[in-house]
Amino acid sequence: MKKYMQRLLNVLYPPYCVLCGALLPMEEWENGICKSCGEKIPFLTGNRCKFCGRELQFGEICHSCLENSPVFERGISAFYYETLRDGIARFKFDGAKEDGKVFGRFMADFLLSFHQDWIDDIDFMTNVPLHALKEKERGFNQADILCNSIHEITGILYEKNILTRTKETTPQSKLSAQERKMNLRNVFTAKDCRGKCILLVDDILTTGVTLNECSRALYRQGAKRVEVFCLSVTK
Ligand SMILES: [Zn+2]
Ligand SMILES: [Zn+2]
Repeated sequence: MKKYMQRLLNVLYPPYCVLCGALLPMEEWENGICKSCGEKIPFLTGNRCKFCGRELQFGEICHSCLENSPVFERGISAFYYETLRDGIARFKFDGAKEDGKVFGRFMADFLLSFHQDWIDDIDFMTNVPLHALKEKERGFNQADILCNSIHEITGILYEKNILTRTKETTPQSKLSAQERKMNLRNVFTAKDCRGKCILLVDDILTTGVTLNECSRALYRQGAKRVEVFCLSVTK
């Protein structure tokens, strides 16, 4: 019986800290984070690039965004990817869906604590889509899990799958910066979103090409403004 209960709880909550991987005592499973990580959650909050949220010593736009000229209005990321690498791998590739819910809670916290003004500004948020086959293989869309948690906590309206990925493509992580752009050209389509201010959500921002192409599709369908919110950005 005890074993069964434990297995059940494992499904509800990750039994370890999603940031550092330390095993948690059972009474802290619900938090998904250990005490020491919880004391200082490494959110990105200083002077940051207005498109991706990378920290900057000075100026407004990071080198990578200068090169890629984002078409979306502005963007934020809650963490550096390097801080969450193991946790994101467990979430996406080992199917630890529950970790994703904890990450989504962090994103909601981040918004409520540091970007309350963004919440009032948007009509709805939507997820970056996976190709249908890819989503079937993984069993879920990581951005959808994040959106659901953010919605539950902040009340921001969530419209799932406003965007569709029409082609299966080589994973962006395997391509050079130039190839990334070509790879995703005309891959996304969007539903009608005339006059809407949209918050586009994803798990990792590297060069921002995926988010840029998704934004283009939303603008083609009449979006008034697209803003981007990622769980993490690479350093
Ligand atoms: Zn920890
Ligand atoms: Zn940037």
